[in-house]
Amino acid sequence: MNLMLFGAPGAGKGTQAKFLIEKYNIPQISTGDILRAAITDKTDMGMEAKKFMDEGKLVPDSTIIGIIKDRLAETDCKNGFILDGFPRTLAQAEALSELMKNMNINLDKVISLNVPDELIVGRITGRRVCSKCGASFHVEFNPSKEENVCDYCASELIIRKDDNAQTVKSRLDAYHTQTAPLIDFYTKMGVFIELDGTKDVSEVTKDMINALS
Ligand code: ADP
Ligand code: ADP
Ligand code: ZN
Repeated sequence: MNLMLFGAPGAGKGTQAKFLIEKYNIPQISTGDILRAAITDKTDMGMEAKKFMDEGKLVPDSTIIGIIKDRLAETDCKNGFILDGFPRTLAQAEALSELMKNMNINLDKVISLNVPDELIVGRITGRRVCSKCGASFHVEFNPSKEENVCDYCASELIIRKDDNAQTVKSRLDAYHTQTAPLIDFYTKMGVFIELDGTKDVSEVTKDMINALS
């Protein structure tokens, strides 16, 4: 199963990806997680990307497309994958189509988690992420079992540098101007499914599993 989770920053893509990993036994490919790992490792690519991320702007397409090309070629992707946070521009979507065509595979579904802008600020400012596995929690809406400890791998939870009220505005701007045009692109492809992302985490998971079966 080749899936994509789509939606604004903070819509719940990473949270729902964790359930799909378990259900379908396929990897989550989060370009945000890959970029943050490159920043931790202080690679040239990471240092360059950091400037954009700290300002809430999109990292250039050439960098992102290179990352995805390498990642999809890894063996764990051969039974499928969950794209999370990629593509975010039309150029990235077109590059993905080309890559998948060359690999002889199809995109099965794009699941859009619809959440209005007014709810996004609260989601992002209350988000806590695992410093090791990237799992996402919320202080109020989706707390970890033990405060500041990851449910999945017991590592420490942290606040992402870009998760502040200032960058949320530019991230939402980037979403509406650069990413939202993909709705039309994937609707035309006949794979776009819209879900109400404002429901509780477990309700969204149920709707998503229903939509996929
Ligand atoms: P969120 O979904 O909460 O915005 P991500 O972890 O997906 O967070 O992305 C964090 C940042 O990484 C983005 O604001 C952007 O700067 C960069 N980024 C991640 N994925 C992409 C992408 N596909 N294209 C361009 N920039 C990206
Ligand atoms: P994305 O990957 O789309 O940026 P996340 O999965 O990291 O989003 O979710 C953003 C924040 O919102 C996190 O703090 C997460 O725990 C919380 N969250 C996710 N889904 C829901 C939901 N259905 N209701 C309330 N909060 C949610
Ligand atoms: Zn973890």
